[in-house]
Amino acid sequence: MSDAPSGVLAKPGEAIGILGGGQLGRMLACAAAELGLDVHVFTPEKDSPASRVARRTWVAEWDDEAALADFIADTKVVTLEFENVPTRTVDTLETLGRQVRPGVRALAVAQDRLAEKTFFRENGIAPAEFRRIDQADDILPALEALGGKAILKTRFSGYDGKGQVVLETGADPVAAWSEIGAQRAIMEAFVPFAHEISVVCARSADGDFRAWDPPKNIHEKGVLRRSIFPAPLSADVLAAATGLARTLAEKLDYAGVLALEMFVGEDGSLLANEFAPRVHNSGHWTSDACHVGQFEQHVRAVCGWPLGDPARHSDGEMLNLLGAEVHDWPQHLTDGARVHLYGKRRALDGRKMGHVTRLSPR
Ligand code: AMP
Repeated sequence: MSDAPSGVLAKPGEAIGILGGGQLGRMLACAAAELGLDVHVFTPEKDSPASRVARRTWVAEWDDEAALADFIADTKVVTLEFENVPTRTVDTLETLGRQVRPGVRALAVAQDRLAEKTFFRENGIAPAEFRRIDQADDILPALEALGGKAILKTRFSGYDGKGQVVLETGADPVAAWSEIGAQRAIMEAFVPFAHEISVVCARSADGDFRAWDPPKNIHEKGVLRRSIFPAPLSADVLAAATGLARTLAEKLDYAGVLALEMFVGEDGSLLANEFAPRVHNSGHWTSDACHVGQFEQHVRAVCGWPLGDPARHSDGEMLNLLGAEVHDWPQHLTDGARVHLYGKRRALDGRKMGHVTRLSPR
């Protein structure tokens, strides 16, 4: 193979590493394979979805330094599919001389809702109004300051609406504090949004930026149910949202794909909810409806390859298959949908088991 251009960290025939073994890692690994790369997975989970398509897997704890050293020995660059990988794991890999994209900075901001909302605010990306909550006694004054309706969210390890409770005037602060596990939290004003959208976008280490058309996202019980693309909103609103995601990627000096989830008001106003320093469920449709999808784009960015064209060739809708819904896969195979199944062995209630994309026109 000829010499690679400067900035290329992994070439076809070489291996990249993925921290985390879930469905996002599995789809990243498939995209990497399409580009001629081998994939090494590091995950504490046995028999994970990603491990079953990877060349090699290390099943070990995040602080197992010997396993981490072995994992990177033959791996040119490392990425992640799970934002709660401990930052110490990433520090260890970088100390051992292996670059991790995205790096510790983006992870540290994304892992702590207080750091995340503060970072948004400091960089002109307005979040909903929020207060820091360190104890049950902080709850009532914050609830009053936020207008009497708010959401209490744990600062760390929350996902898919877990670790959250909606509070209204008259709420019992002690019960709310115990409901979120009596841990450090933030309280956020309840936003009467008209729509939820996300900007899924990519930035290369040398500053190239590409974004997909933002989808409208419909959540049920805090979990993404459907993404409709493109979002049925004005071009101005979507361009403003994309500009905020670009600011975020630049301020984080980000390399890879990220997703910024936003609330849109009736008047088109935008508030940032949270961001994911990784490929995102609301970007799954891009592989079916765009010239280059999020998984391929992320691999390109991580490896230091040129970014591809995110232009969308179809409209449509992505539907998550949750829990037992995956058992309908034979029907989806024949009804014109693009079917993506994650190979998970047990269809636990609410678990993300697969997704289907319906394009129009087909
Ligand atoms: P999160 O885990 O923070 O993304 O929250 C999960 C879902 O809860 C969001 O997608 C919204 O549907 C809803 N939600 C979160 N924060 C707020 C808020 N401040 N106001 C209204 N709804 C919210």
